Amino acid sequence: MFDIDAIRRQFPALQVPAAVYLDSAATAQKPKVVLDAIQSAYQQGHANVHRGNHQLTANATAAFEAARKTVQHFINATFSQEIIWTRGATEALNLIAQSYARPRLQPGDIILVGEMEHHANIVPWQMVAEQTGATIQKIPMSRDCQLDMAAFDALLTDKVKIVAVAHITNVTGTRQPIETLIQKAHEVGAIVVVDGAQGIVHENVDVQALDADFYVFSGHKLFAPTGIGVLYGKKALLDAMPPWHGGGKMVEKVSFSGTTFTGLPGKFEAGTPNISGAVALSTAIQWLSELDRDGAEAHILTLKDKAIAALSSLDDLRFIGLQTHSGVFSFVIDGIHYQDIAMLLDQQNIAVRAGNHCAHPLCDALNIAGTIRVSIALYNTEEDIDKFIAALTKACDLL
Ligand code: PMP
Repeated sequence: MFDIDAIRRQFPALQVPAAVYLDSAATAQKPKVVLDAIQSAYQQGHANVHRGNHQLTANATAAFEAARKTVQHFINATFSQEIIWTRGATEALNLIAQSYARPRLQPGDIILVGEMEHHANIVPWQMVAEQTGATIQKIPMSRDCQLDMAAFDALLTDKVKIVAVAHITNVTGTRQPIETLIQKAHEVGAIVVVDGAQGIVHENVDVQALDADFYVFSGHKLFAPTGIGVLYGKKALLDAMPPWHGGGKMVEKVSFSGTTFTGLPGKFEAGTPNISGAVALSTAIQWLSELDRDGAEAHILTLKDKAIAALSSLDDLRFIGLQTHSGVFSFVIDGIHYQDIAMLLDQQNIAVRAGNHCAHPLCDALNIAGTIRVSIALYNTEEDIDKFIAALTKACDLL
């Protein structure tokens, strides 16, 4: 049974009574077990991994590689070598663009990118398009922030080599039909890169069932520390990709006449990795896996429905997109700048996100400068929502 009081007690940062944190899509707070895992990684047996021959390094390496296996099982990857540690979703997307796409793309090739994507899933493709002469085409979105699947069908030709889309959109929380996108893209021989930065938080992801070619996410939105993330890729694709960063531990033999590289996953992990981050991510995943995740999602959706019902009665408030999935939703209030609202909410200890949410094209498509985004996590309470509604009502009255 999902017990909100027991959950909430596990988050030291949420023990400040007056504060309401509704910005978990930007980054989630951390449960004590994760904080403890970071500390113990440094305090008990800290050493570098895959280097040296003392017991400490053997222990650290074992914990680091066990963490990789935890991620493998969490997303049901076939092999642990398919899990590459990165700094986050952004770095993983850049790795794919530079190591998978750059050597393959040619002038005339097309990359399809969703119009509502986070900049992290647009800019790396623009950079590689510039480098290779390939072209980016956007998959347009409807007014309710869903991918226009008829337009996608029309754009999908054998010139399309890569389709890059978010599993769940960060501005509106809308889930995209990634299963259909993957199946259709594969029919024309394109590969699909799924940005799972938001999706991994709200769904049990099975990369084999999805048949995703690449799936990326950041640890920090999944209750783990910042600076650690995951690139999942199908082994055959990763095997065929050259390294991206060069340095220690990704090589077999270095000489001035040439260098040979090690295999997966090490060839993509040059330099000392974020060891404590990987271990703490695995702790976060274990913690999450022991929860009633369905109960947690049901709790989140109940809070969201409550918030949406209350907001619907506010004058001039417009929701952006459909509010059907995940704990994220966005709105604008006509005639009031989102910055002003966010400032007045902040003065009342309510943390929400206001702005364009690193999604300029989405805002442009809807002809808005930005939104107020509320993101509800499993540790939020009915009281949080009540305080938020009261604070927003007060802010609107003042403005
Ligand atoms: N994609 C989406 C959908 C996101 O929400 C975010 C984070 N806001 C990112 C990518 C980038 O994640 P990070 O900054 O952790 O690399």
